[in-house]
Amino acid sequence: MMAQYLALKEQAGDCLLFYRMGDFFELFFDDAKVAAGVLDIALTTRGEHGGEPVPMCGVPVHSAEGYLARLIKGGCRVAIAEQVETPEEAKARAKREGTPVSKALVARDIVRFVTAGTLTEEALLEPRRANVLAAIAPVRGSVGVASVDISTGRMELEECGEGALGALLARLGASEVIAPEGRVDTPDGAIERDAREFSSESGDKRLRAIHEVATLDAFGTFSRPMLAAAGGLLAYLDHVGRGTMPLLLPPVARDGEGTLAMDAATRSSLEILEAQGGGRRGSLVAAVDRCVTGAGARQLAEDLSAPLTDRAAIGERLALVGWLHEDQLLRDEVRTALKSLPDIGRALGRVVAGRGSPRDLGQLRDGLGMARQLRDRLRQAEDRPPLLDALLPDLAGHGALADHYGRALVTTPPTERAKGGFIAEGYDHALDDLRQTSGNARRAIAALEAKYRDETGVGSLKIKHNGVLGYFIEVPARHGDALMAADSGFTHRQTLANAVRFNSLHLHEEASRIAEAGVHALAAEEAHFEELVEEAVAAREAIARTAAALARIDVAAGNAERAAEDGWTMPEVVDAPCLEIEGGRHPVVEAALAGSGERFVANDCTLSETDRLWLVGGPNMGGKSTFLRQNALIVLLAQAGCFVPASAARIGLVDRLFSRVGASDNLARGRSTFMVEMVETAAILSQATERSFVILDEVGRGTSTYDGLALAWAVVEAVHDTIACRCLFATHYHELALLADRCEALSLHHVRAREWKGDLVLLHEVAEGSADRSYGLAVAKLAGVPAAVVKRARSVLDKLERGRAETGGIAAGLGDLPLFAAAVEAEEEQCDTLRDELRALDIDALSPRDALEKLYELKREAGER
Ligand code: ADP
Repeated sequence: MMAQYLALKEQAGDCLLFYRMGDFFELFFDDAKVAAGVLDIALTTRGEHGGEPVPMCGVPVHSAEGYLARLIKGGCRVAIAEQVETPEEAKARAKREGTPVSKALVARDIVRFVTAGTLTEEALLEPRRANVLAAIAPVRGSVGVASVDISTGRMELEECGEGALGALLARLGASEVIAPEGRVDTPDGAIERDAREFSSESGDKRLRAIHEVATLDAFGTFSRPMLAAAGGLLAYLDHVGRGTMPLLLPPVARDGEGTLAMDAATRSSLEILEAQGGGRRGSLVAAVDRCVTGAGARQLAEDLSAPLTDRAAIGERLALVGWLHEDQLLRDEVRTALKSLPDIGRALGRVVAGRGSPRDLGQLRDGLGMARQLRDRLRQAEDRPPLLDALLPDLAGHGALADHYGRALVTTPPTERAKGGFIAEGYDHALDDLRQTSGNARRAIAALEAKYRDETGVGSLKIKHNGVLGYFIEVPARHGDALMAADSGFTHRQTLANAVRFNSLHLHEEASRIAEAGVHALAAEEAHFEELVEEAVAAREAIARTAAALARIDVAAGNAERAAEDGWTMPEVVDAPCLEIEGGRHPVVEAALAGSGERFVANDCTLSETDRLWLVGGPNMGGKSTFLRQNALIVLLAQAGCFVPASAARIGLVDRLFSRVGASDNLARGRSTFMVEMVETAAILSQATERSFVILDEVGRGTSTYDGLALAWAVVEAVHDTIACRCLFATHYHELALLADRCEALSLHHVRAREWKGDLVLLHEVAEGSADRSYGLAVAKLAGVPAAVVKRARSVLDKLERGRAETGGIAAGLGDLPLFAAAVEAEEEQCDTLRDELRALDIDALSPRDALEKLYELKREAGER
């Protein structure tokens, strides 16, 4: 057995090997240790290998899915080795081969690899998230990227420059990335595969074979890097599926042109699909998503990850949202209809991958039927927007299939296929006859029971069934002897403590009829299942289109619903380089505040060609970041074709969106380095165009005051003079206000705050002009910094400001830090907190013990100075 195991393990490579033994999948050696750790299950041992006990753990086959899900989540990949023959077959084989039958080992083979990017099981997938597998193929300075969501079969091929790969992968959010082995620039975490598999010839050939076409021209124009990536992707799928290909729809060539470009840093800083802490909560998508289907939620995530730059296409989406926004009754009706819709895209994925169940077929039947009903309903509606008219035909392409499935399947088909019972009555007369035969036999058995009771006079006689004996007659032990008599017509089968079991000729006959009819019925159902699957496979592209159309409608209806909840409006998307937002709000912050009963303060933002760069100052916590981000998010939402959280919005198309946060705000991410901040800023300066929109939040903060100020200054100048794009720049450097004199398209703004009775009131209102002061100490007090520390800071500040005034203002102040430091030191002597504390001490109120403790404390403090 060990030899067989090791051979399979060799094939499994770095995947954990699930080795089937009876009702368990067992893991051995290091696999066992890893799995036991991730799954938190017991690690035991079994036998010895090389003189050492072999670590082992196992999971029951019937609940393996749950364990698989946890392993995949834990970053593992799993190879499943099944028994591919029965013990009898193994013995027969041993006999043929002349090996000892007693040592015959059941043959096993890896039937499948389970990896994060190649899942189709409902239980292992998140309903509201696409599951993307991507392959990259670098070819001379350019990189081909092939991506597929095999749960729905969507496949895209694209190409980008080497430098843009990070941004592209960030957009895809793949759960598994594969790359040719042996390259230095392979992205972290990518799985390396034989480089020869990434060839454009094999990509082309495999795609043509899968889609049974002589050329791929009908699907689009694909470059060599794209095809090379496809080659690697398909070879991997072939390997993982052990020859069974999953659902793959014709590839779509995608060029970056049509989408709003955003790099990885921008995506994470805007928290589009995931909040900074990880997870969907607190992300943009979570704040926007009102989809009622998983497919809709996946489409929305895709829309937000890749907003459009084509005004007409954006307008089409917006018109559909607008139409559903206006008619609440219709919207409700549509959403109610969609709510009960099964996930037909994923059901199709399982069916095509050969892992479909009768229930999946039932889902296709129900989903396609509902789609048709929805089409009929929507066709009656008036003033339909063009996008809807374009979608309607996709909703009803499968009358024949839905009807056929309707006749063939029972109302609620089971998840398990092996036991049959999913083909409806009246669909196949031969099957009906078989079922009737076994039904008759069952009734005959019931009649036999009554007859035997009469004949034997044993009222408690029963005819029962179990997996080992089949049908048998059972009487309580004390009646056993009576039935044992040779002429009773019963043959003894088993004696238990309380009961004795028998067979009879009649019972045997009826039981055989049931068994035989059952076997035939199962075979008949199995054959029908195959036919039904084939039909779905043949119609896969049309079914996928239906699924996509339903998802698109759900996205629009969900967005209309979201807009209605909070008074969002339809943005006007124009070509002019403007950004005019009235009463804009941040959807995530607003939702968070609503939770605590606070109100969000809406703010305007008006950028134009002549006033395109706003410097936003004001106290910490005043709402600068929020203001910057809300405007970026509004642009993103608008170009994704969504309504926006503002009372009015007019948005000039943006080609690239950039968002950066100063390094010190990033400390929590464990990459405090100023370097990262500068690398990311450099990317903006080299990639942004006149049509871009850039938000920079406290850039320059990750280094010392003067470096930081100088860099912030230079960055603002470059953005203003050279790039000339729309930009919001938040900063706490008052000194930057001086830039207003030299940059004509730059204006000063600040978030307002007031001190009221010594307390700071943050108004979260964006107003014109520069911030008068920073309120830093007031913020510190608000944040709960001890009063003594705030007081001390105030006196230091006074000194600094006095020094600054004496040396002649801001510009001169830049060089005078040593002078201030000296002043501060002198102050230290006088402002002796130790003395203050002593003065405040009420000695009479202290117990001797407290007094001693206090003395130690004072001594400690004195020691620190
Ligand atoms: P800053 O960038 O100026 O330090 P933030 O934008 O991070 O400030 O805002 C700090 C907090 O203030 C937010 O978490 C939010 O609770 C609140 N806030 C920000 N903007 C608003 C607003 N427009 N209306 C109400 N509360 C706001």
